[in-house]
This record gives sequence, structure tokens and C-alpha cells, in this order.
Amino acid sequence: MPSSIYNCLSEIGERIIANKDYLTELDREIGDSDHGINMARGFKAVLEKVNPEEQDIGAALKKAGMTLLSTVGGASGPLYGTAYMESGKILSGKTELTAEDMKKIFEASIAGIQKRGKAIRGEKTMLDALIPASETYAKKLSEGSDMIQALEAACESAREGVEYTKTITATKGRASYLGERSIGHQDPGATSAMLTLEAILDYLKGK
Ligand code: ADP
Ligand code: MG
Repeated sequence: MPSSIYNCLSEIGERIIANKDYLTELDREIGDSDHGINMARGFKAVLEKVNPEEQDIGAALKKAGMTLLSTVGGASGPLYGTAYMESGKILSGKTELTAEDMKKIFEASIAGIQKRGKAIRGEKTMLDALIPASETYAKKLSEGSDMIQALEAACESAREGVEYTKTITATKGRASYLGERSIGHQDPGATSAMLTLEAILDYLKGK
């Protein structure tokens, strides 16, 4: 029987693959029309490479990260790859995910993406979905919410973050070549980050 972490990665992968054309279309407007193609290729490989019976969450996430790093390409491959690998490191040996672990996943992912990509909030990247989602998640936990409630609120913040990317100029990555002409367009990477969080939430709800 597939492990929980494999089922969660499947939910993410299926969501990304189902939105391949949507993500690519967003990237056509402010990039080079490959974000959906890149991400779908990466997650197809993840679902082939990660052992479906892997119980160790850390090992599965590290494997997913290495696979994304070597198959996604573009700017997003190393960034998502790092996020999954850093998350894997902190969950090494764990077979159950707690609400506190999810908080650490957010923080390690963001730290990894920032270390590698040097972007901050407000530069029209995946961080504009992830940072507000992470902050909301931590706040909700501190107020007593459980993992699903906190992640529901975090997804709402991610969706707001994606909307916010339409209003700002890209200053990192390929979209920055457009300067102010990038205003009015939604960031593809913020969108794939939001889809990832929604898939994790749906996985947890359906468990
Ligand atoms: P490429 O731009 O190389 O074609 P993708 O199209 O796969 O790569 O991914 C583009 C996405 O990567 C952008 O929408 C943005 O969210 C994200 N991105 C680009 N540069 C950075 C960065 N330095 N930090 C964080 N995210 C970034
Ligand atoms: Mg691109």
C-alpha cells in the first residue's frame, strides 16, 4: 500500500499536472511559456522515482527534491528542489507529520528558496504566495487551530498572495526583463506554490 507521504506527493503531482496548461499560459505572458511543462515533467519524475512504500517522510522529500532539481530546469527547478530537500532534512526518520512539522516545512522551504534565489517578498515570485501562507499558518497554530484549520487559512493567504502578484513589478527571474510591463499579470511560480498548498490541504482532508 502506498505510504502517506507518497499519497501526498501524488496529490501535489496530480494537481500540478492537471494545471500544466494553465501554468504555462501564465508563463507565456511574462516569461518563456514553460513553467507548467517544467513542473509537470518534474512531478511525473517524482512519482516514478520516489518509492511508493517509503515511510520515512524525510527520505521521500529529499528524493523528491533531488528529482525536481534534476528534471524541472529553469529557475523554478533549483528553487522547488531546494525547498523539498531542506524540508526532507528536518523530517529525516519521521513517519508521521505533526502540525508543528508543517510549520517547519514552510520555514525551511522559504529559507531554502531565499538562500538560493535571493528574492524577498514583493518581487513577484513564488515567495509572495509562500511567505504570507507561512505567516498565517504559524499565527493560526499559535491561536490554537489544528493543522487543517491552519492550512485552510494559509491557502487563503496564498490565494491573496497570488492576486497581489498581479499588482506588482517583477524584479527577479525572467519576468523582471519586462519591468513595469509585468504589472497586470499573475506570477506562474506563486500560482504553482498555491496549487501545492491546496493539494496538501486536500490530501489531509481526505485522509
Ligand atoms: P524560468 O523563469 O527559468 O523559465 P520557470 O518558468 O519554471 O523558470 O519558473 C518561473 C517562476 O520562478 C517565476 O514565476 C517565479 O515565481 C519563480 N522565480 C524566478 N526567480 C525566482 C527567485 N529568484 N526567487 C524565487 N522565485 C523565483
Ligand atoms: Mg519559464
